[in-house]
Amino acid sequence: MVSEIIAIGSELLTPQRVDTNSLYLTEQLNALGVEVVTKSVIGDDRDRLADAVRRAVSRSGLVILTGGLGPTEDDVTREAVAAALDRGQKYHSEIADQIEQRFRQMGRKMAEINRRQAFIIEGAAILPNDRGTAPGQWIEESDHVVVLLPGPPNELKAMFLRQCLPRLARIVPKQVIQSIVMRVAGMPESDLDQLISPVYKKYENPVTTILAAAGDIQVHLRAQCATEGDAQALLAEVAGPIELLLGDRIYSRNGDPLEATVGEMLRKQASTLAVAESCTGGLLAERITSVPGSSDYFGGGFVTYTRRMKTELLGVSEQLLEERGAVSAETAEAMAAGARRRTSATYALAITGIAGPGTGGENAPVGLVYTAVADAAGCRVAHRQFLGDRQRIRQFSVQMAMDLLRRRIAGL
Ligand code: AMP
Ligand code: MG
Repeated sequence: MVSEIIAIGSELLTPQRVDTNSLYLTEQLNALGVEVVTKSVIGDDRDRLADAVRRAVSRSGLVILTGGLGPTEDDVTREAVAAALDRGQKYHSEIADQIEQRFRQMGRKMAEINRRQAFIIEGAAILPNDRGTAPGQWIEESDHVVVLLPGPPNELKAMFLRQCLPRLARIVPKQVIQSIVMRVAGMPESDLDQLISPVYKKYENPVTTILAAAGDIQVHLRAQCATEGDAQALLAEVAGPIELLLGDRIYSRNGDPLEATVGEMLRKQASTLAVAESCTGGLLAERITSVPGSSDYFGGGFVTYTRRMKTELLGVSEQLLEERGAVSAETAEAMAAGARRRTSATYALAITGIAGPGTGGENAPVGLVYTAVADAAGCRVAHRQFLGDRQRIRQFSVQMAMDLLRRRIAGL
């Protein structure tokens, strides 16, 4: 069974508010093995909403709407759904009584407009709301179910858990969704896709999604099957060939970020790490220490932005800086070696490059970055020419440095 979510409210179309209800609902539905195939956000507009509902029920077995059940004129969900399903609405005096009672308990008088919330679409089951005034509604037709839930997240969540879950358990075919997230560093998204799309394109199930960030690509495989065993088998069938193609470029098979993978490798070896950063200004140390427990292996770092600091803190020779420049393979190596010497860490990682937009007086193009790793066996250095803005170049640089370390530790 596939589902669709429609979030209603003009405020959700402004930059100030986001639709979080659909994220909650998606998580819950996925846990039941129900895939969400479409999500929409519609303003408080009866006709547009009715159109959206007509379209949704024509293609999805389960349509969940959130919001627009309030008492005011701009709350049009009831009317729009009634129009879309060609049903009337009936006034339920017992609901109006309950709402009135709720106001009385708060020492207030119910406004007349709250009576609008006592209208129920013909044939709908009423979903009581013990956290607010708007009841939800559950409408079953021959080939689809339409559910109306209130907008306030605390009301929606309680109603979903208490009223919807038991009903869904009855109608949803037993399905499980299992997923694998592989993460890859140092590969352009288009190259990766060209390599693995011949494998995953053969399958509609699992669904494959590729998410790219600076220097980091996630390959998500989501399988929907009748049993956990079937889902695992299907995932293995597709993930196996993909893993072979990507090889050691995969740094994580459980969704962990690179800093966690590298941290785990250091911990296993009982090794320590120090860093020396120029153009990333501490970003590398930030990423490494974002992992809980990183104090087990991370000693600390140097942020040496000027040439003088590179010399004073890391012992990079002035002559080297003069001859090769601060952005060079030799300086990256000298920074890594210096950081290692001054901390006695097992490994030291260094980054020097031009994050832009200016070149800061260095004779190198914007986006040129050197990273180096030093250990007892010596130094290894890598360089790349990145494109993008300052932020992106810095993110790429950190990712590249951590991957250099990963490869060094793994002996790749
Ligand atoms: P409504 O049911 O449309 O009267 O919505 C009441 C309140 O619930 C709104 O003012 C929002 O603060 C909140 N709300 C409505 N829809 C959502 C949504 N999709 N995600 C998060 N909050 C929402
Ligand atoms: Mg609203």
